[in-house]
Amino acid sequence: MTGGNEKKHIDALFTMDLEDLRKGPGKIDRDIPLDWLGQEMKACEYNVEPTKAHVRMGLSAHDQGVLLSGNASVRVKTECGKCLAETYLDLECALNGFMMPIGTGQELEERDNELTPQDLKREWYEGDTVVLDEIMRDAIMLELPMNPRCSDSCSGIALQVLDSSKKEHMDPRLAPLASIKLPKE
Ligand SMILES: [Zn+2]
Repeated sequence: MTGGNEKKHIDALFTMDLEDLRKGPGKIDRDIPLDWLGQEMKACEYNVEPTKAHVRMGLSAHDQGVLLSGNASVRVKTECGKCLAETYLDLECALNGFMMPIGTGQELEERDNELTPQDLKREWYEGDTVVLDEIMRDAIMLELPMNPRCSDSCSGIALQVLDSSKKEHMDPRLAPLASIKLPKE
């Protein structure tokens, strides 16, 4: 079992030693590697590429586990789902949770639910290292919109109307717009 744990920690990007946390609160304030995040974002249904990502998080050890709170600021490049324009989105991803040691935590959870405030997401850690990669990924992915838009008011029709050569593929309701003759020089 321990062999598996060690490997997992070696691969992890964001870790915190429990021993250090018991001495005093810990802090993570650093850029998130874009290649790692880009890889994770391949799970998204549309093309999205992170261009900037930073995490700020505080952690503190308590009797039952580790409390964490902070946020990740992420800028991604994608396409508007309506007009296909290149679009940048700024995501503010809240990172809050209570991490409990695996094993004892499950038993405690069954016994009562008053150990942590109810709105805190419960997570788990193994051994003496808190691994935060998954929490971070989940919080960021959650903030990606279902349908990215260049703006709230994107009508999505601008490209179609301007290109009158594609008239035949056009929504018939837009045909009158395409037939309007623009003055030529
Ligand atoms: Zn758009």
